[in-house]
Amino acid sequence: MDEALIVRRCRYMPDHLREGDIRRLPRLAVVTGIHGDELEGQYLCFALTRAIAAHPDKLAGIVDIYPAVNTLGIDSICRSFPNFELDMNRVFPGSSNSLMIERLASSVVESLDGADLVLDIHASNIFLKELPQARIDQTTAEGLVPLAQLLDLDILWIHPPAKFLESTLAHSLNSRSTPCIVVEMGVGMRITKEYGDQLLSGVLRVMRKLGIWQNEADDSDPVRTARSSLDREIHFMNAKASGIFVPSADLSAQVSKNQRIGQILDPLDGIIREDVLSPCDGLLFTLREYPVVYSGSLVARILEGTDA
Ligand SMILES: [Zn+2]
Repeated sequence: MDEALIVRRCRYMPDHLREGDIRRLPRLAVVTGIHGDELEGQYLCFALTRAIAAHPDKLAGIVDIYPAVNTLGIDSICRSFPNFELDMNRVFPGSSNSLMIERLASSVVESLDGADLVLDIHASNIFLKELPQARIDQTTAEGLVPLAQLLDLDILWIHPPAKFLESTLAHSLNSRSTPCIVVEMGVGMRITKEYGDQLLSGVLRVMRKLGIWQNEADDSDPVRTARSSLDREIHFMNAKASGIFVPSADLSAQVSKNQRIGQILDPLDGIIREDVLSPCDGLLFTLREYPVVYSGSLVARILEGTDA
């Protein structure tokens, strides 16, 4: 059809730069929309753009914003890459002489290569709502955790390396020595404005740390201390029964052992099929949003521990 698939990037940088200056300036890239049904990052991109536009004189480095990497997916409300039915975050680093999706992945990696930090913003899926959190492979934790702690997140989930994550954008970039932090927050197909505002303050703080943003006025915002999973256990709570899950605790609640998180109901005969009880004291940081569950469905995750 002779049509071109274009992934658009908006670049912000100080005025009056010469070509040679661009390479030596610190660079932050904000990437989102690899999964076409995850929209929380859209609001963050908007808010970050507005924050920069309000104080262009404070910008001392480069900010690249990629709001829709899986642009066809976002346009068609499709999580995967349409037609190929492929999870786009399983084709990195791609290849420059292969299928369209692989060429696209390869171009994205090439474009991001060499940034001082890449934030890959995700929004869970339509089934689960997540407190704002970073997901960090423990092999990259030493370099990434100090930056992630500035992001104003609730949780740093530091996990062991996994084979199936080797085809993600984050793994491709980190293995090329371009630091990339994955942020998960909110829920698919929705915008949680408070989470976007929370992350915005963190992104501006990271920009100051990297020498990209020189607005000391923002330093008065208190930074929250993210709870790290390094020395605590994460408990996965899976449904034992099938039915309709109705929560009885709120996301972000500090729950105690045996507290009810929710119930699984049977609408046909009016029976409570399961009381879902917390296995420990901890922070409820993942909660089922989509009510239909089957035996085995994930309904909640809890980070063990009581202190902040
Ligand atoms: Zn995602």
